[in-house]
Amino acid sequence: MARPKNVKHIFVTGGVISSLGKGILSASLGLLLKSRGLRVAIQKYDPYINVDPGTMSPYQHGEVYVTDDGAETDLDLGHYERFLDESTSQASNLTMGRVYKSVIDKERRGEYLGGTVQVVPHVIDEIKDRMAELAKNGNLDVLITEIGGTIGDIESLPFLEAMRQMKLEMGDRNLLNIHLTFVPYIKAASELKTKPTQHSVKMLLETGIQPDILVCRSEKPLSREIKNKVGHFCNVNELDVIGLNDCDTIYEVPLMLLQEKLDLRVMKKLGLKKFREPNLSYLRDFCNKVKHPQDGEVTIGICGKYTEYPDAYKSILESFVHAGASNNVRVNIRLLRAEDAEGKSFDITKELEGVNGILVAPGFGDRGIEGKIQYIRYAREQNIPFLGICLGMQCATIEFARNVCGMPEANSTEFNKRTRFPVIDLMEHQKKVKEKGGTMRLGSYPCILKEGSRAHDVYQKFLINERHRHRYEFTNAFRKPFEDAGMNFSGTSPNGELVEIVELKDHRWFVGVQFHPELKSRVQKVHPLFHGFVAAAKEYSQGKRQMELPVDRPVERPVDRPADMPSFVPAAEGE
Ligand code: GLN
Repeated sequence: MARPKNVKHIFVTGGVISSLGKGILSASLGLLLKSRGLRVAIQKYDPYINVDPGTMSPYQHGEVYVTDDGAETDLDLGHYERFLDESTSQASNLTMGRVYKSVIDKERRGEYLGGTVQVVPHVIDEIKDRMAELAKNGNLDVLITEIGGTIGDIESLPFLEAMRQMKLEMGDRNLLNIHLTFVPYIKAASELKTKPTQHSVKMLLETGIQPDILVCRSEKPLSREIKNKVGHFCNVNELDVIGLNDCDTIYEVPLMLLQEKLDLRVMKKLGLKKFREPNLSYLRDFCNKVKHPQDGEVTIGICGKYTEYPDAYKSILESFVHAGASNNVRVNIRLLRAEDAEGKSFDITKELEGVNGILVAPGFGDRGIEGKIQYIRYAREQNIPFLGICLGMQCATIEFARNVCGMPEANSTEFNKRTRFPVIDLMEHQKKVKEKGGTMRLGSYPCILKEGSRAHDVYQKFLINERHRHRYEFTNAFRKPFEDAGMNFSGTSPNGELVEIVELKDHRWFVGVQFHPELKSRVQKVHPLFHGFVAAAKEYSQGKRQMELPVDRPVERPVDRPADMPSFVPAAEGE
């Protein structure tokens, strides 16, 4: 069966209210089409003027998702990667800021040859050019583009206009719009109401776009009658009105859409022939494990400073869903506000009652640092499984310096520039950096693991690649006293100069990582660190004895070229 000549485009827009799950819908549709044998990519268009979300507060934007190539992107890219098991890149996230920046740069270079530079045609053409570029280079059959925001927002209009023009140029067989709307259930009337959807489609029509398929998010299943009504008023075939009611887990969404035949409707409209029947049995098993785990439950405390806003920890929360399934346990999450632990009357033992593992989250700035250090001290002293991520790892070294190595004022220079013991400090090349956007140590870097360590036990490899997003690093001058006091630097950059993983020898399970493992956990490939951490929490909750490493205690002999280490390990950029 021949592949389609042109890349087929699908635009996903959202109406009525935000947070209906356009990202999950796009990722789910991508998975369905991929499992039918098509080559699919998904990208996100964000209407804001920031060049990327890297400079935004997690309160504004939620988590910043970092790709292998070091792009700071929207958290929906995390869903795409987790569902499709494929890596995204800078090309997968375009913001209006990036579009305008490129247009203005061209104008400064004189590329518009004396013309007046305008939204139409210049900004729209810039969007269309980028789309064509991605379609050309992507080795793709289908490109799904999710447009951020809600229909009616002023700032997303250029994206919609670009879509309208492309549909006209490419024809209905090559581009379609899926509009995700809301059909609220009104308790007092015991009825689903279609009017908000009708209004949203009307608004979309004002921009010149007739949706091809409507996906209606609702609390209750949509009856045939409701689908007929929505279709009738919105000028859409009732078979193209797809119901999407609330699920127990987001990973059920592809299964529900498969049942509603969304993929078949899309393929029919785009003239795509089926390559094969989708096999999603692994996803069914996974959802079954998430919903009905057989081995009980564990409770993990996540300590951070954005706990009122869980989107700030999206990938961490999803990684625990994956690790719960792989360990066959339900993972309950207790969000712990770091600053609370700084109060004089705070009872940490009470706060952590029933908690089987503590994760200290990434972050920036000094708010809540002392509280995080309290939680780490408790985890270390009480032998509770601990995982520190990025700032969480940095805090673990500060705690160790202060309370084990006898360096009472130890700190990171991020929080105290004049500390006598700067165990965490700015990397040399970071000291000259003035601009904030895109200037951290970003993206994927290799790391070598020490044989016999917890890290090696968890990964079962010597060479790993993980994604980074930070400016500060462990200060090498402190390695010796730390090692003497029982800390194992079990992962370093290939040239040995940057500490990437720390762990404690005499502890049940205590690991701090300078990188972000949560960005690489996927449904089909749970991240080894999350799997290992939840396994340790499970053993701890079941009152099992201290987890032993499978090999005799660390044999710190030099690693002599293990089988899985390439003969040449390139030093990562910036090292
Ligand atoms: N603020 C720390 C740094 O810049 C940690 C960053 C993080 O947790 N992502 O190094």
